[in-house]
Amino acid sequence: MKTAPPVTMAMPRPCPICGGVRLNRLLVGTDHREGLGGTFAIFCCQVCGHGITDPIPADIAAWYPSAYAPHARNDDPVQRLSMAALRRTAQGKRASGVVERLLSSATLGGPVPKGATVLDIGAGSGGAVQALRVAGIDAHGIEPGASAVAAAHQAGLTTVQHGTLETVTLPMDAWDVVRLHHVLEYLEDPIATLERIAGLLNPSGRLVISVPNLGGLGRRMFGASWDGLELPRHLHHFTRHSLERAVGDVGLRVEMSWTACVFGIFAGSLDARVHGGQRQSGLGQSLALKAVVFPLELAAATVGMGDALVLVARRP
Ligand SMILES: [Zn+2]
Repeated sequence: MKTAPPVTMAMPRPCPICGGVRLNRLLVGTDHREGLGGTFAIFCCQVCGHGITDPIPADIAAWYPSAYAPHARNDDPVQRLSMAALRRTAQGKRASGVVERLLSSATLGGPVPKGATVLDIGAGSGGAVQALRVAGIDAHGIEPGASAVAAAHQAGLTTVQHGTLETVTLPMDAWDVVRLHHVLEYLEDPIATLERIAGLLNPSGRLVISVPNLGGLGRRMFGASWDGLELPRHLHHFTRHSLERAVGDVGLRVEMSWTACVFGIFAGSLDARVHGGQRQSGLGQSLALKAVVFPLELAAATVGMGDALVLVARRP
């Protein structure tokens, strides 16, 4: 049995969520998603369970290949299904509990009236913005990846702006919904981002967050081979407790939270396990394997052990 190589934290840091100073090394992994290698540890806070990646690469941009999948214009069947479900949600046809557990990207945390303002942070190439605008929502997006923004503009989505919350000027107290779909885990300072978002929401506005679930069945089964880790691009690894605490600490009230599944994540993780943590190849792309393990992913989500956490919070 292989033993994990020794990893030393570059600099002792307290937990960025609760300030706890006792952190345990949970696992040591590598970049098996993009095959760029490296050795990284995840340290977990003994109080809130939050995980942090260590060390944080000095040049994080070097860990994003030009064809990084989340930045590409995605038009696969699961994405099309997700966006159709999001459009239905936006049209007032509230997604059922099963759909929200199947597709975390389909939720807006409740009904959204026509003309409502929705801000999608980390909008990628604008898939969600497009689905919402088709449904009559005044949807806007911001995205730091230049190629993703170029793809959005090419598709006619001029309301997707290039930049981050720090660089783009947005109206304060103005947004009915802010959507943060698989974004928070990439940020160096998620609390600072949540504070900014709390100031963007209008008095009845809500924030909808999805992140990978460090406490889910997938991570427990696959350990360092779990696809939800995305080392070293994911700098933060949330548990339900740490996510709820982070949102509460910026003055928002958690309205509901649940776990959802991420279609294909078990197949990708199994692939990483079989191939020794290197670049995914055949197994991770096998639709047959994805279909076989999907009932297990769904069952985990229904009992609160899914691979994604979804949380809806409001201004109090
Ligand atoms: Zn903590």
